[in-house]
Amino acid sequence: MPRTHLLYDFYRKMSKRFYSLDELLRHALPIMADYLDAQRISFFDWNEDKSIISLQSTSLNGEHFELQENIFVDKDSPEIVKFLQDGLMDSPTLDYPVIYALVEWRTPLESLKALTSGQQMRSRYGVLRFERFKKSKEFTQSDKQIILGLCSELSSKINVIEIDSYHMSQLERARALNGLAKLFASSLRLADSLKEILKSIQNTFHFDRTSMYLLDPKTQVVNEAYSADLSGEVKSIDVSKNVHRAFLSRCPGGEYVCPLITSSDIVLSLPLSMQSNNLGWLVFDNMLSRAKISQEDILSLKQFSTQIALAIDNARLFEKVQELSNYDELTKLCLRRFFNENLSQEIYRSQRFNLTLAIILLDIDHFKTINDTYGHIFGDEALKEVSKVIRTSLRQTDIPCRYGGDEIIIMLPRTTAEEAKHIAKRLCQKVKDIKMNPELTKGQEVHLSISQGIAVYPYDSQEQADLIHCADEALYSVKEGGRGFWASYSDIKNNLKDKKEGK
Ligand code: GH3
Ligand code: MG
Repeated sequence: MPRTHLLYDFYRKMSKRFYSLDELLRHALPIMADYLDAQRISFFDWNEDKSIISLQSTSLNGEHFELQENIFVDKDSPEIVKFLQDGLMDSPTLDYPVIYALVEWRTPLESLKALTSGQQMRSRYGVLRFERFKKSKEFTQSDKQIILGLCSELSSKINVIEIDSYHMSQLERARALNGLAKLFASSLRLADSLKEILKSIQNTFHFDRTSMYLLDPKTQVVNEAYSADLSGEVKSIDVSKNVHRAFLSRCPGGEYVCPLITSSDIVLSLPLSMQSNNLGWLVFDNMLSRAKISQEDILSLKQFSTQIALAIDNARLFEKVQELSNYDELTKLCLRRFFNENLSQEIYRSQRFNLTLAIILLDIDHFKTINDTYGHIFGDEALKEVSKVIRTSLRQTDIPCRYGGDEIIIMLPRTTAEEAKHIAKRLCQKVKDIKMNPELTKGQEVHLSISQGIAVYPYDSQEQADLIHCADEALYSVKEGGRGFWASYSDIKNNLKDKKEGK
């Protein structure tokens, strides 16, 4: 085939879209080998300082191979200097004809850098090796012209792949940023936000590991840490482990390179700062693959870290507000909405695991009179004392709530009616024992008392609102019966029925 026809043929065969250099080489190498009667053709990547070329792809008699071969290059030798000028080089050392050809292309990032800095544009290089070990026919001048033509076409194709993959990575980055922006807008719990952030970083940058260390805002000691691996799975790191202690104790305020690692190319640490407040650090590493973290990634991550710090700050604020809105200032007991949410979850759990659940509804006796006699400030103090007694008398899993006014409701998971009565008795006694500050009552001794109604899931009711209603009925009957005591709904059920039937 004449040279121009051959180049046109190659141009046509290469007109499809390639998504990676590997795909391109698998397609192009056998065609090129065929044009030039070469049994083997190999593509080497020429590293940046030009001291080594590494085999990337080989085609032997039309079959594709991926082998390991590194060739050291004396970049200052006259042959190599000439090779870079001419784009071709014979290899006289072998007993069959071999020719090396230079493939040169530009990456969009390098082009951008050159454009913004005004410096000369740097190229990336590859080397093609054509080997004719079956036929000892030397490469002619015409062959060499063909090779130069093919290399030029290959270069432009690699350029397109570089631009495409650059656009893809930009798109991925934009998508990741967008994902983060959505996270900021959502009101996730802090731990969930952090996990989503780490996942999103891993899905975009594919480090061997991304870790996040967070400082306690008050003590400035790391109290929370997470790490995500290649799979994107996020795990909590035990911050008490010595290795992390060693790491953290040496963290200065600024950018930081982990002391355990000597090369900073594969590890990057960025502070998470909010208005000169350090919230913690993000640490990215490629300790396993030892792949260098690119300048472009570093730039993006710096932008990310500012936004992540903002997200953490927002999530913390959100949690604080959430907490404040769940608890009552005066009594330090949770509020009705929070209680109801927890009660419905607990009823569900009790149903699933066949457990009993008791609630106690209690009310301070004659509280209005107390207020009227000793004033509201005293009333507030009394309410505080009663609440304190309740808070300090229960198990961790019990939830007391200020249900309204002087009414308090307590959720007691895994508790029977008998056990609830024991608790009620104890509370009654402890409230009786409260000694109020006599300064507030002009020396008069005031005794507080409470009345309590008990209802138990599933016996009294299996429905939340109705269960509370049962406890209310029981409380009402105690109030009617003289106050300062307790009763369960099952105790009073028959009386109520009699009343309704007019007996
Ligand atoms: P009973 O024994 O029947 O419960 O009589 P009571 O006077 O306690 O009646 P009730 O429970 O209906 O009255 C509640 C009173 O509690 C009315 C209200 O003024 C008072 N109260 C509600 N919230 C507060 C508060 O935050 N501080 C003070 N000091 N008083 C409150
Ligand atoms: Mg009352």
